[in-house]
Amino acid sequence: MASSTASVLSRPLGVIDLHTHPSLKFMLFDRKFWAKHITPSGTFPLTLRTDFDALIDGGVSAILCTSYVLEKDWVEDVWPLKFAKKLSKRLGRILDNPPDMMAHEYLDSIERQVRETREKRGDVVEMAGSYLEMRRIIGEGKLAVLHAIEGAHHLNGDLDNLDRFFRRGVCQMIVPHMYPNEAGHCVNAIPTNQPLRKLGCFKEPFDVNAGITEWGRELVNRMFEIGMLVDITHGTLPFRKQVIEMARAHPKKRPVIVSHAGLYKFCPVPVNPNDEEIRMIADTGGVIGLLAMTHWLVKPEKRSCLDIVLASVEHLINVGGEDVVAFGSDFDGFTGVPSDWRSPRDYNRVREALLKKYTATQVEKFLSGNADRVLREGWAKS
Ligand SMILES: [Zn+2]
Repeated sequence: MASSTASVLSRPLGVIDLHTHPSLKFMLFDRKFWAKHITPSGTFPLTLRTDFDALIDGGVSAILCTSYVLEKDWVEDVWPLKFAKKLSKRLGRILDNPPDMMAHEYLDSIERQVRETREKRGDVVEMAGSYLEMRRIIGEGKLAVLHAIEGAHHLNGDLDNLDRFFRRGVCQMIVPHMYPNEAGHCVNAIPTNQPLRKLGCFKEPFDVNAGITEWGRELVNRMFEIGMLVDITHGTLPFRKQVIEMARAHPKKRPVIVSHAGLYKFCPVPVNPNDEEIRMIADTGGVIGLLAMTHWLVKPEKRSCLDIVLASVEHLINVGGEDVVAFGSDFDGFTGVPSDWRSPRDYNRVREALLKKYTATQVEKFLSGNADRVLREGWAKS
């Protein structure tokens, strides 16, 4: 057993993408993981960027496939959704049902798509229910798909739901998301140029001075305890600091991560970590995953962003050290993507650009090694 574990761990990694949303497209538009899709730059919500072929072409070996059932607040905050949910049965079903129940349907949809892909393509992709299983799948040259969840609202206020998700193989949860939830407060993450703003949408007030709730503390401690990675992307500044302090105080050493963000240095918006936070996250052994979204990578916004991605890697290294660098594209999360990083295939460009500046060992760390470490340290290790 020991020797097979050692051989699994010695095999090379490709890219581990810490944040992808194909399940949104499975659930909303019935897109298929095994089919081919177009990948224009900018926002093009109907396509599926994270399809199997694009992942394999880009050298991706594992994805955190993040489930997101829209919060009920969306319907109040974005009035056209009242009509949209009448037109789309799929959307109506997501918005009208309890989030914990729907989250399990998302997880079902991912497992079904992986099954279908295996039926069509053979033994090329598998769900990973544990860290070692992920490494075994990667070692066998297949794509590993991991469950993750975005927003503590999926628990519907019931901590027992956390254990249920954990038992289904959920490795990571982003605690706050688009609207404040039972666990804590979030920053506004809707781009300022979102066209629906002109129609009076996105008025939901956000209290940027509020942080974690008592229930949120219970939840985060439970996540540290059982070994589900705690992700603070989307939290307010006080929330993010409180969780990092909780990780420091916890008897088990658990990394805290930001799975998908730009950096405050190049794009000063509240969702992006500043230098002090980069250091604090690095201190917990955590990572910051850089995302493929023009609006959060740089201000003023521009279409091609690979230069900013490289500058962000350099800045992360300078401030937090090379163990803090990771990638979490947020592909298929209704984001506007850069022209030079528009699908997982473009990890080839990212890799090539990184190799001009860093050694192969460093590049492997940025694209997968550091992500692999936080999964090893934060997912179910007692
Ligand atoms: Zn997000």
